[in-house]
Amino acid sequence: MVKTISLLGSTGSIGRQTLECAQRLGIPVAALAARSSTARIVEQAHKFRPKLVAVYDEGSAKAVSVALSGRGIRVVSGMEGLLEAATMAEADCVVTAVSGSVGLKPTVAAIKAGKRIALANKETLVCAGEIVMRLAAQYGAEIIPVDSEHSAIFQCLTGRGAGELKKIILTGSGGPFRGQTRAQTANKTPAEAVAHPNWSMGAKISVDSATMMNKGLEFIEAMHLFGVTPDDIEVVVHPQSVIHSAVELVDGTVIAQLGVPDMGLPIQYALTWPNRCESGADKLDLFSLKHLTFERPDFENTPCLALAMDCARRGGTAPAVMSAANEVAVGAFLRGSVTFGNIYEIVSKAVNALGSVASPSLDDVLAADAEARRYAENLLDER
Ligand code: NDP
Ligand code: MG
Repeated sequence: MVKTISLLGSTGSIGRQTLECAQRLGIPVAALAARSSTARIVEQAHKFRPKLVAVYDEGSAKAVSVALSGRGIRVVSGMEGLLEAATMAEADCVVTAVSGSVGLKPTVAAIKAGKRIALANKETLVCAGEIVMRLAAQYGAEIIPVDSEHSAIFQCLTGRGAGELKKIILTGSGGPFRGQTRAQTANKTPAEAVAHPNWSMGAKISVDSATMMNKGLEFIEAMHLFGVTPDDIEVVVHPQSVIHSAVELVDGTVIAQLGVPDMGLPIQYALTWPNRCESGADKLDLFSLKHLTFERPDFENTPCLALAMDCARRGGTAPAVMSAANEVAVGAFLRGSVTFGNIYEIVSKAVNALGSVASPSLDDVLAADAEARRYAENLLDER
């Protein structure tokens, strides 16, 4: 079990559930980090008494600093602050629960500092998976996935020898608009898009689940985490979210991980691995499961999934461009500036216009991310 955590993205959905888990397991929190949720991070700091609080937004950091004065807690800001939280000596594990590619630099810094990474921030592996996995091997940093599908695959692969894996079966619920056509979903509202049938999550990932971009991001994440090619992963729509994913072995055996849809479980496992302990989560009652169903993905009506799988094959900086343009498009959708249908249009235009740099360095990835954001913002301005 980890000894002390530094939590990046403490005020979000994963962050808050991580704090519940840390409290339950008695794991101290050395650092908290967020962007601008001032009141919430101050409340968390009072409760968990970290040494460091990093608030990305300068103005919010000043307000937090005033609110926490006299408490012996250092308050820092900007990317420098996130990097400090990611590398502080007191923590042996960094939980990366920020949303978006802003998580990349702190994750790389934490890896170089030899921390265990409890990785929720999927955009990091999507945009720089090869670099991140190479560095983790080089610095001996453990990367334990928090994303429920990847935690499931990780658990199914535990104890398997090299060469035993035939394919990864990546399951997904299909999101709130499963079974609907593009014409039917084109004008869905943000409120409709974030109303996920099985999981309660942050706004961005909820919209990604509705477009199925989330499954596409997870497809790329799985390639890097488990060292497989796009041909080794099959996406299966499983609306009940009971089988969190599975692996098929060379002899045809399939091993799946099942459980209630509760992120508390993969979060806890990332902190206790390789051990397990009581979690307080509801138990899966097989008798209450009337049926488990499976469907092929509908690529026609969820084009973001097809686009992501295509970018996975293109490799290079194509996934970074896609992910960054998607962040901009989803942000604009949540603000009401573009329609649900526009998300795919914006992201696919960016991917097609910007091309891909092969075998990118970290700087190439960061440049591609910035260029994709500019390109997508310009598309918004032209509207
Ligand atoms: P939320 O939107 O709920 O929370 C995002 C967190 O990131 C907040 O604490 C936010 O701070 C912080 N943040 C955003 N930008 C910055 C920044 N520039 N600097 C510092 N902190 C920042 O997201 P989720 O918790 O839902 O998701 C977090 C990550 O985990 C995502 O990558 C997501 O894909 C992944 N994930 C989430 C799952 C879920 O069930 N929610 C499941 C699997 C993966 P502030 O509150 O101040 O804005
Ligand atoms: Mg997931």
